[in-house]
Amino acid sequence: MKSTLYVVATPIGNLQDITLRALDILRTVDVIAAEDTRNTTHLLNHFAIGAKLMAVHEHNEHHAAARLIEMLQSGKSVALVSDAGTPAVSDPGAHLVARVREAGLRVVPIPGANAAISAFSAAGITAPHFLFYGFLPHSSSGRKRELAALKDLSHTLVFYESPHRILASIEDLCEVLGGGRTVTIARELTKLFETIHTCTLEIALDWLKADQNRQKGEFVLLVSGAEISEAVGVGEEAQRTLQILLAAMPLKQAVKLAAEISGAKKNALYELALQLNAVGDKPDGAENGNGQLPCRT
Ligand code: SAM
Repeated sequence: MKSTLYVVATPIGNLQDITLRALDILRTVDVIAAEDTRNTTHLLNHFAIGAKLMAVHEHNEHHAAARLIEMLQSGKSVALVSDAGTPAVSDPGAHLVARVREAGLRVVPIPGANAAISAFSAAGITAPHFLFYGFLPHSSSGRKRELAALKDLSHTLVFYESPHRILASIEDLCEVLGGGRTVTIARELTKLFETIHTCTLEIALDWLKADQNRQKGEFVLLVSGAEISEAVGVGEEAQRTLQILLAAMPLKQAVKLAAEISGAKKNALYELALQLNAVGDKPDGAENGNGQLPCRT
């Protein structure tokens, strides 16, 4: 307990989502370093925990780190919390954690709510890998630039978005990644108006515009990755040929023949064959090619 920094996850909406261990830690530490002391006071009051708060946010994190390290070195224990969810995940805290670890002091995570993982767990995505991206830039040009760099990845892409930019971001996602990708829009998770809707990017904008309420609140967007053949630069015809041959013969032979038949590059076909085999090995395989459910709420 002494000289330890606890990184404590707090709820992302429903206060009942706090863990027993988090409550224990918040009750017993000497100081709670909070992103916004008013928000954390609300949480602490709900659980009848007396406040011993210190503000640690993006504007004072460097200065506050030095003070907190002194406290830790004098034997005190500190809990770090953000406004919602897990600190240091698209939230302040990483700098403080790095400094405390550099100082040779103990950092202990107290796991709990996180918006991205909550959305992922309820989306029904069977694709094996995802990439957590967090917030895209606020400007459309910046967003499009960063999306262009993600375009060829076959991983499901996970973004955070605010109500101010949800329409513009969906528009840019559609333009850069293509309207055929599947998106799960997870809104207001664990709250009264929780919505989890899956559709293609092409129709997501109309779905959001059809009801102003759908544009309100906090969002996680889960966008299917590039089709494997897209990612390695192999055309549809060559992929089909390769798939037929893979079912009938060993991988190397199938790649060689597919290259001769289609004229596609052997290296790319080999990469694609490995990935196709890996997907085929999954018990639940990505039936629709991108591992997401068809359109539904
Ligand atoms: N540290 C948090 C976590 O562990 O998820 C994320 C904090 S980040 C500053 C806030 C963003 O997370 C919001 O803009 C939204 O994209 C997402 N978010 C937070 N709570 C959410 C919720 N209840 N439903 C959907 N998205 C949420």
